[in-house]
Amino acid sequence: MAKTIINAKIYTGEDTIESGYIRFEDTILEVNSMADYQENPADETIDANGQSIVPGFIDVHSHGGYGIDNMDANPELINVMTKKMLAEGITSYFPTTMTQSDENIEKSLAGIAVSAESNPMIQGIHLEGPFVSPAYKGAQPEQFMRKADAETMKRWNEISGGNLRLVTYAPEMGDVSDFETYCVENNIVLSAGHSGATYEQLMDSKVSHVTHLFNGQLGLHHREIGVAGFALLEDDVYAEMIVDGFHITPAMVKLAYKTKGADNILLITDSMRGKGQTEGESELGGQKVFVKDKQARLENGALAGSVLTFIDAFKNILEFTGCSIEEAVKMSSVNQAREFGLTNKGQLKVGLDADIVILDETLNVHKTILGGKIHEFK
Ligand code: FE
Repeated sequence: MAKTIINAKIYTGEDTIESGYIRFEDTILEVNSMADYQENPADETIDANGQSIVPGFIDVHSHGGYGIDNMDANPELINVMTKKMLAEGITSYFPTTMTQSDENIEKSLAGIAVSAESNPMIQGIHLEGPFVSPAYKGAQPEQFMRKADAETMKRWNEISGGNLRLVTYAPEMGDVSDFETYCVENNIVLSAGHSGATYEQLMDSKVSHVTHLFNGQLGLHHREIGVAGFALLEDDVYAEMIVDGFHITPAMVKLAYKTKGADNILLITDSMRGKGQTEGESELGGQKVFVKDKQARLENGALAGSVLTFIDAFKNILEFTGCSIEEAVKMSSVNQAREFGLTNKGQLKVGLDADIVILDETLNVHKTILGGKIHEFK
């Protein structure tokens, strides 16, 4: 049975319909202005009463939440976790791994692969490390870090069921050209992160994406613009940002937005196990983490992922930069779908998957619709 949401302000990702309706089954059947609406008696009709509708959010960088971590390598738990993410407005997700032993990474990839077979939210996997630099380790455990190599990547992509779509690595760690070629040929986006690469090294690499801009990388200096400067300067490079107000100050978020514009910024949560849990002791990559005042930190004080929800990232980017909701939608959904070739996702257009978020007046998630199925939150 088709469902129709009426009287909604619809942000399609391309334009805005002030008062519109959207009709869908598992995919979107119609999106139009209320002026063209004709009631279909067989439909289930939901009156949005002027609430806003945006495309489902796509999180390409998150380690976990709700007491669960992708490194637990448990497909059932991953499914429990993604279901809870619907309350944040997330409808597509790249489970993200940590720098760990080969054995633990392989277990995790195999676990995610099982989940991906039946879980429609899993649209790829983000491998964060172990091919990263100890000099920019952040909360990645140093003892497992090493240079990237094509054979390992090939083996891991096979274990993952071919689901690897994004890899965070340090391109300055020796000759990684075979590795880069393998990734490009297999649709795996190369992202510089936990890296001290210089602008020149990056221009010589095949990097097209930067992991959590400003965090865990060579920053912007007037004689060496580093990873951060590369991300800001190069128009075709996508940059992730953790917009929780702690990883990057609101002023720096605004500076990045003013420099780069909304078309190549990706909001991410980089969330860890402690998201959605009572604050206190937690864990990341086998290390003790303390969550306090919405910040997750290792014993040494380093930030260890976040407890940010995606809807809060969406609200924060509006607040910190003064951008429009249309631009926030680009950064939460449209850009991700375009970059990763998720051709059925990211916008509210006829024929695409019915992945929809209904937001109330204060931009809280009221309902999330995944493949046409409605999940209600308040
Ligand atoms: Fe990281």
